[in-house]
Amino acid sequence: MTRRFFVADRVSGPQAVLEGSEAQHLIKVLRARSGDHVILFDGSGYEFDACVVRWGRDHVQLEILAERAVDRELPYPLTLGVALPKGPRQGWLVEKSVELGVTCLVPLRTLRGVAQPGEGALARLRRAVIEASKQCGRNRLMEIAPPQSVGEFLRSVPVGGSRWIAHPDRDAVPLASRLDELEGQPVFVAVGPEGGFAPEELPPGGAEEWVTLGPRILRIETAALMVAAAIGTAWNPE
Ligand code: SAM
Repeated sequence: MTRRFFVADRVSGPQAVLEGSEAQHLIKVLRARSGDHVILFDGSGYEFDACVVRWGRDHVQLEILAERAVDRELPYPLTLGVALPKGPRQGWLVEKSVELGVTCLVPLRTLRGVAQPGEGALARLRRAVIEASKQCGRNRLMEIAPPQSVGEFLRSVPVGGSRWIAHPDRDAVPLASRLDELEGQPVFVAVGPEGGFAPEELPPGGAEEWVTLGPRILRIETAALMVAAAIGTAWNPE
């Protein structure tokens, strides 16, 4: 049972307050009582040992006992631009992306995409980021960025960053050979919708930015997570 809880406000003093669903979980599910110990995180990169001081119907007051910086991030930033799949596969993509250390997930607006997340869906995905972070021990939250077009996403790559487009085309470069190029630069990878990227969405430079993930056609989320797992393994070889 997880004993990690997310505090929405940055922890900056001797006390912290859990509210909303985090407080409900601690009080109603875990039946916390005064003196019980938990770990808090606030997305700043720190973890806090804390103990319950008192609780009400929808909040829990805690005393901070100790704080420490605990870094469970990838060593370099990884941004995935993904044409989101439908329904529960979105939540699965987010949960596994958090576990694999993805820094930022950008929902892509594509010509052939079907699922365009509204504000409610984005809020649900951000909640899923917190749940996954509680489970896997991340102390920084994966960002769910506002949706972008493919062009906006590709133009957002910083100078010196790598820009790959997952595209199942026979002229695409195998993922494994692109991994050799990793030298600590930020990496941005675009993954298309079920119908694939439309030709007019792809930059005119041609196939040199295209990456193939092998001879099989993968579902959107499988493709995104294969890329994240491969890059994470290359960056964290031990
Ligand atoms: N018929 C579509 C096409 O030709 O692009 C297949 C789309 S696939 C279901 C969804 C997305 O996953 C693709 O746009 C691509 O970004 C990625 N993808 C899936 N399999 C891939 C592969 N073998 N190599 C590279 N990218 C792949």
